[in-house]
Amino acid sequence: MKYVSTRGLRDLGGFSDVLLMGLAPDGGLAMPERIPTFGPDELEGLRGLEYSALAYAVMRPFIDDIPEADLRQMLRATYHPDVFHSAEITPLVRLGDSDLYLLELSNGPSLAFKDIAMQFLGHVFEYVLEWRGEHLNILGATSGDTGSAAEYAMLGKARVNVFMLSPHGRMSAFQQAQMFSIDEPNIFNITVDGVFDDCQDLVKEVNADAEFKARYTIGAVNSINWARVLAQAVYYFKAYFALNLPTGQTADFSVPSGNFGNVFAGYLAKRMGLPIGQLVVASNENDVLHEFFSTGVYHVRRAAQVAQTSSPSMDIGKASNFERYLYLVAGADGVQTRAWWDEVGGSRPVDLRDSGHWDAVKASGFVGGRSSHQDRLDTIRRADGEFGRLIDPHTADGLLVGERYARPGVPMVCLETALPAKFERTVEEAVNRIPPRPERFEGIEKLPRYFTVMDNDAAALKAFVVKKLEATLKAAP
Ligand SMILES: *Cc1c(COP(=O)(O)O)cnc(C)c1O
Repeated sequence: MKYVSTRGLRDLGGFSDVLLMGLAPDGGLAMPERIPTFGPDELEGLRGLEYSALAYAVMRPFIDDIPEADLRQMLRATYHPDVFHSAEITPLVRLGDSDLYLLELSNGPSLAFKDIAMQFLGHVFEYVLEWRGEHLNILGATSGDTGSAAEYAMLGKARVNVFMLSPHGRMSAFQQAQMFSIDEPNIFNITVDGVFDDCQDLVKEVNADAEFKARYTIGAVNSINWARVLAQAVYYFKAYFALNLPTGQTADFSVPSGNFGNVFAGYLAKRMGLPIGQLVVASNENDVLHEFFSTGVYHVRRAAQVAQTSSPSMDIGKASNFERYLYLVAGADGVQTRAWWDEVGGSRPVDLRDSGHWDAVKASGFVGGRSSHQDRLDTIRRADGEFGRLIDPHTADGLLVGERYARPGVPMVCLETALPAKFERTVEEAVNRIPPRPERFEGIEKLPRYFTVMDNDAAALKAFVVKKLEATLKAAP
């Protein structure tokens, strides 16, 4: 499979090339040059496969530069019951006797759905770097879930170091304890005196120094990574088969959305032939996606216009993976996509209302909705009372908006993107009790913490990276 850029550049290479690439040289995102599809009989053949075998079947058509046995082995190691604390990996639970279902994606090491793709990234990075004789230094910024998922995925990986910036004192107590209790020679937690945007700007500033970036092989694991999107498509198949529907019958999915990576993976599954009807994009108060699907205008917000909400992992002003969606809607037209993103880059709205593309958007099955802090509290309380199920604030956004679009007789699968234990305070506000946490996280707030506090200063950050890398080299045999 060859990969191309959403902005028109051809020949980005194969899977393992785009795996390590970040943005394409023309600023676009990597996409496969075509999307392989499963016919009805082939789909039937996937029913009943256990998770890692299903992952192989779904991902293999996009990955032809890793030998079959190695890829299968990697997927077995990634999607192992010991890692995801369930034989099903992503169990599907019916809510009462309704047509609503919860797809549990958050039983992995960091208690959020990002583990599902990130754990695969850890294995495939190590494999490809080993094969190429290279090393990678991941530099990232996190406001919570991405950082912990990345660090748990890269634990003990010999060819990867992680330098993760977070805003000092601003993550939830649980998130801080989860990240900072990690004491591993290849993981470096750095807290910055500032807010999340300051952290992100620091990462950008270091990346803008091309010489530094090349010399110290600086890379990323952000949500535009194609391997993350691809790995996420698998659980849509898994959920669909778990519903046990007659052949060809459709199911709807509702997805708490921020950077549009999760729900785009659902669209990929749909384009591959999985009978998905609606893809419900649930937003919180930061509703740029809801606005697009209800008006046809995509109007990104500046960082200062992004509100801090009680579903913080969805607090975005622009949705990085959205470019991939519009590229496909435009019929894989890189010239059109480039023209749109010239507008986005210039902070001008992209208006699809009077174009044929808007019909294509409406035909794609996407619908959107938004919710507020009060909606979240009410939904958490209601799910607890009606279904006996405690959910986290992000999942509540998805459940609420999913219910609005539910159709009689069509299952609505709501994606559980984090466990309630991760967002204790909001859940407690809703139901007046503290959500249970998995035993392995009991008392983590009392563990010693390992992190470095740093000024908001790119020169200091670079010096820190260099010092740590030199120390690592000296320690190596
Ligand atoms: C990252 C995250 C989201 C948003 O997912 P996207 O792929 O960015 O749309 C939603 N909920 C939780 C808990 C998350 O960590």
